[in-house]
Amino acid sequence: MSEPSASKSPIVGIDLGTTNSLVAVCDAAGPRVLGGVVSALTPSVVFFGADGARTVGAEAIRFGLSRPDRTIASAKRFIGRSAKEMGAFATSSGLPLTEGPRGLAAFSIDGQCVLPQEVSAEILRTLRHQAESELGVSIDRAVITVPAYFDDAQRQATRDAARLAGLRVLRLVNEPTAASLAYGIGRGSQVGEKVVIYDLGGGTFDCTLLEIIPREADLETDCFQVLATAGDTELGGDDIDRAIVAHWFRDGTAPELADRARLVALAERLKRALSHSASVEETLELQGDRRAFALTHAELDEIAKPFVDRTLACCSRVLNDAKVARDAIARVVLVGGSTRLSLVRRAVADFFQREPYTALDPDRVVALGAAVQGAILSGNRRDLLLLDVLPLSLGLETVGSATAKLLMRNTPIPARATEKFSTSMDGQTSVKLQVVQGEREFVEDCRSLATFHLTGIPPMPAGIPQLEVEFLVDQNGVLSIRAVERRSGVEATLQIIPSYGLTEAEATRMEAESIAHARSDMERHRITDLCVHSKLDMKWISDALRRVRSELEAPYVEDLERQLAQLAAMVHAAEAGAQNIDANAFSSLKQRLDVASVRLHECAISHSIRGGSIR
Ligand code: ADP
Ligand code: MG
Repeated sequence: MSEPSASKSPIVGIDLGTTNSLVAVCDAAGPRVLGGVVSALTPSVVFFGADGARTVGAEAIRFGLSRPDRTIASAKRFIGRSAKEMGAFATSSGLPLTEGPRGLAAFSIDGQCVLPQEVSAEILRTLRHQAESELGVSIDRAVITVPAYFDDAQRQATRDAARLAGLRVLRLVNEPTAASLAYGIGRGSQVGEKVVIYDLGGGTFDCTLLEIIPREADLETDCFQVLATAGDTELGGDDIDRAIVAHWFRDGTAPELADRARLVALAERLKRALSHSASVEETLELQGDRRAFALTHAELDEIAKPFVDRTLACCSRVLNDAKVARDAIARVVLVGGSTRLSLVRRAVADFFQREPYTALDPDRVVALGAAVQGAILSGNRRDLLLLDVLPLSLGLETVGSATAKLLMRNTPIPARATEKFSTSMDGQTSVKLQVVQGEREFVEDCRSLATFHLTGIPPMPAGIPQLEVEFLVDQNGVLSIRAVERRSGVEATLQIIPSYGLTEAEATRMEAESIAHARSDMERHRITDLCVHSKLDMKWISDALRRVRSELEAPYVEDLERQLAQLAAMVHAAEAGAQNIDANAFSSLKQRLDVASVRLHECAISHSIRGGSIR
């Protein structure tokens, strides 16, 4: 019975940003953002209270000013990465980095290890609840966007975060690709056009080159193809904010650690204020001294210039990768809050020799596009189709720590590739393989995604087994691996040990912990969800009963009606605000009815088929 209700709830689109996150939906009224009249943006910041309560968004930033040690921002930079990789960034940003399981980047709060997945899950949960309260239905499916160059580990970790937040990810979409969807690019007469999406946010930069390709004969849709993408995970508005603070302290003095967060927040505020005024100034009390901090347009341009130059270098790389000349670009789309900087607009216009496209709010474009993709997946929009490319090459470690690339960077996905090899010892029944992602020749220069053990190979002399490993990358850019020994037909068992993601056991444990954590909160949301689903179920069952009652035996109908009444009483009590409702009891009542109504369901379907209509 969960199917009919699940299919009624819309698939939301979520921009899970480094700095800000946003949820949107696309329904009959078109795409729109949800979650707030004043500002729909939720800062991607989580505050961990001493009492175990977690606060997300603007309030978390406020709490964080006095307790930076309990506040996690930019978790997205850490997701699916190792503590070693993130050491330098954590030091400069003052985040309490620690080593999680297998050297994963994690945060230490009150001596507890919190993984970035858990931080992102809090943000996703907040967005989910925003959408639920605005739409009045329970939401359990989403399209989530990720930077184009996110590797497999980072994508998997994003999925894990969604799972912890009770969301099924129907598709991970590259952010620039989502932006193009929001603009509705690809309709009508634009076939062959090449479009660049320039996305400068708070923490990351993405440049993506899309081409609108002719629709395929059997498809009534236009297609986007991503020709190339490049980016920098450590480049964004945050860097400009820190550079502004450095500019204020250019005489060599350093701000006290305790003042840093407030200074960076001031820098960010003044930077934004310069979009409306020529120069700005504010005072701040530092260590008992009130000091004035000022910023002019000219200063901001000078501070931001090196960062903007780096983005343009990325743009050049994308054009070179795709072997496309600058003047072949038909449109340039600006995405991300930092593209509000006039310097960015000028620099991009100069670089591409054309005015960039800015019709939509750069903060919202990605979420809106994700919502459009959600509508496409739910079958409401059949007019668009998306092709993406693999952001980084995927390969295996071979002899001498070299890498053999199975799938090259920029291969359109979904993609499949196989590699054949054999054993090196007589009677060898297992092989250990390392999966690597990256462009470099040697394993130590690439990222190791996973180690996997092929076992169950029948014993044969060295070199005789014909092992075939298949890499499969789905539409989300997520990798799965299969291996088979051709001579015997034995499918080797794969035990994948992710280098950066969560193991199944960890995911399960964290899920359990996160439930235990926000017990009462969860309980409340669970009861809300149960009410929504129960009402849909009850409506469906009552409707079906009305239609096919005469075809069912009386005791069965009576039992169903008794259960319906019990569930209705439970929903009524919950909605009236009763405090003593046990979510488990509620849930089992609903489940019992689910099971009991299977017969009714079958009967109603055969009734409809006979009657020529399926409802
Ligand atoms: P992300 O995709 O990383 O979550 P956003 O697209 O939300 O980020 O962009 C956030 C960044 O945009 C922040 O660094 C913020 O300071 C910057 N930003 C927002 N408005 C402006 C503005 N008017 N001028 C300059 N930068 C801005
Ligand atoms: Mg963004």
